[in-house]
Amino acid sequence: MSAHKIIIAIDGFSSCGKSTLAKELAAKLGYSYIDSGAMYRAITLYFLRNQVDYSDHAAVLDAISNISLSFVFNDETGRSEMYLNEENVDPYIRDMIIAEKVSEVAAIREVRSFAVAQQKRMGRKKGIVMDGRDIGTAVFPDAELKIFMTADPEVRVMRRFKEMYETNPQVTIDEVRHNLELRDYIDSTREESPLHQAADAILLDNSNLSKEEQLDIVLEWVKDRATNPRPVSPNN
Ligand code: C5P
Repeated sequence: MSAHKIIIAIDGFSSCGKSTLAKELAAKLGYSYIDSGAMYRAITLYFLRNQVDYSDHAAVLDAISNISLSFVFNDETGRSEMYLNEENVDPYIRDMIIAEKVSEVAAIREVRSFAVAQQKRMGRKKGIVMDGRDIGTAVFPDAELKIFMTADPEVRVMRRFKEMYETNPQVTIDEVRHNLELRDYIDSTREESPLHQAADAILLDNSNLSKEEQLDIVLEWVKDRATNPRPVSPNN
């Protein structure tokens, strides 16, 4: 599409379809895709397994010093999987038990500094699509293209419910709704890099868009930003 590789930062509320869009964009552009939420989920798994007391600063620092995170590409599935200290934890990190705690863990300053430092390193060579809550505001404030995604809350609940139901048929719609509301609340009100739309991010409401329509729209934005690298103009 262009000689210029750019950084694409995608932020937004839980279950807006950020990762679906990010994966499709990365595949289409030959970019790498980084799911920053998977990193916070893997850290949460470590904290739960090791019963780390989140309120104990020293315990949090000690836990972080024992964590190593990496993404490993799986040729069979064609996806990058999350590894925690050499263990593939991808099958566990999307469980409800993690979803219930991850926002509390992600609100801890030391946890964020640890994850953000790694995320920044991953963007050094550009050609990356990263999704999360603070990518356009804290991780890559100079990203050439920033997208802030949103969708009708009930559309989001049903999307996440269908996704979780595949691996856990016991899950209920109310449970999923409660979890999304709670995470959105914690993510947007925390002190450390709260979720908000960057002034130069483009708002994308995909409540009534098909995946194909959404991808086409965003590919046009990429084409524009990759061929004329320039500061993005504020849309709000
Ligand atoms: O994207 P995902 O829903 O997997 O993220 C799980 C949680 O990780 C979010 O609810 C949020 O608390 C945290 N997160 C974050 N910053 C990011 C990505 C995720 O705080 N960049």
